[in-house]
Amino acid sequence: EKIQDASLDEKKVVFSFEFFPPKTEDGVDNLFERMDRMVAHNPTFCDITWGAGGSTADLTLDIANRMQNIICVESMMHLTCTNMPVEKIDHALDTIKSNGLQNVLALRGDPPHGQDKFVQTEGGFACALDLVKHIRGKYGDYFGITVAGYPEAHPDVIGSNGVASLEGYQSDLAYLKRKVDAGADLIITQLFYDTDIFLKFVNDCRQIGITCPIVPGIMPINNYKGFLRMTGFCKTKIPAEITAALEPIKDNEEAVKAYGIHLGTEMCKKILAHGIRTLHLYTLNMEKSALAILMNLGLIEESKIQRPLPWRRPTNVFRV
Ligand code: FAD
Repeated sequence: EKIQDASLDEKKVVFSFEFFPPKTEDGVDNLFERMDRMVAHNPTFCDITWGAGGSTADLTLDIANRMQNIICVESMMHLTCTNMPVEKIDHALDTIKSNGLQNVLALRGDPPHGQDKFVQTEGGFACALDLVKHIRGKYGDYFGITVAGYPEAHPDVIGSNGVASLEGYQSDLAYLKRKVDAGADLIITQLFYDTDIFLKFVNDCRQIGITCPIVPGIMPINNYKGFLRMTGFCKTKIPAEITAALEPIKDNEEAVKAYGIHLGTEMCKKILAHGIRTLHLYTLNMEKSALAILMNLGLIEESKIQRPLPWRRPTNVFRV
């Protein structure tokens, strides 16, 4: 079934888990074991990323199909335009269709390694809008289509001062509306750590007539260096209180994880308090933080978690 239907239920809070294709066969086996445990908590769907530049195409297809048919969870496959002539795009879509998947996250993709600007592949698409149009044109209503939204604007629009100009932000938003008007059913956002920015973004989307569900992408902080790398790459604003809380504990991995769970829980609480009913967790293929946040929110039961949760010991190592 298409995932937007579940995301539209305003009475129930639903959640989903994102994974990426591991580099080794052992990694893939581990991921499936983890997914199996995580799916026991009834996520609305799980999704698998498309490696940068199409580097994991076959593995992504394989994982997407196994998620849907072996793990038996509603699955969404990411698909990007980078290095993908239309035949390859159609091969990917035909493959998941013949395996019963009905959900795609249509993306432009980032430039391949070593390039700093996105270049359209010969016979391929220039942006996610083109991909959305193609999927609707060729496959009709078969697929539920999700697109990416950027609460702080896409990094291309963000200046050296770390923020987008009003003009850049507004043109990004207008372009997002074109993706929705072309047939996207759902928006998942880029990660953010300033919840007010996300809430303003939802409001701004509604103001310009975007009516589909907008799902916040939540990335629990698991590790200090990883957090800096990811927020640097995505040009994400880090609120001063988060920097202040992390600085003194940055070398204590357990404390950083505990803070990440605390912060993720508080962010989700605030988002839910504003009437948003869906949460998308960027798991980075790890289960503890995502599950701990959902448990803190009362969305999953501790009895179903198949491992002890040592990180839930009361801790005073961080201050907020
Ligand atoms: P687009 O929607 O095409 O937009 C890119 C930028 O170009 C925006 O600033 C937009 O405003 C501008 N733009 C494009 N066309 C026009 C136009 N005609 N007029 C005006 N402005 C235009 N990357 C991967 O490689 N694999 C993944 O699996 C993956 N998953 C992701 C999941 C989510 C939820 C998100 C938020 C991002 C993901 N990414 C992934 C990263 C994504 O590929 C990059 O952010 C990429 O740079 C942009 O992709 P997009 O689909 O948002 O592009």
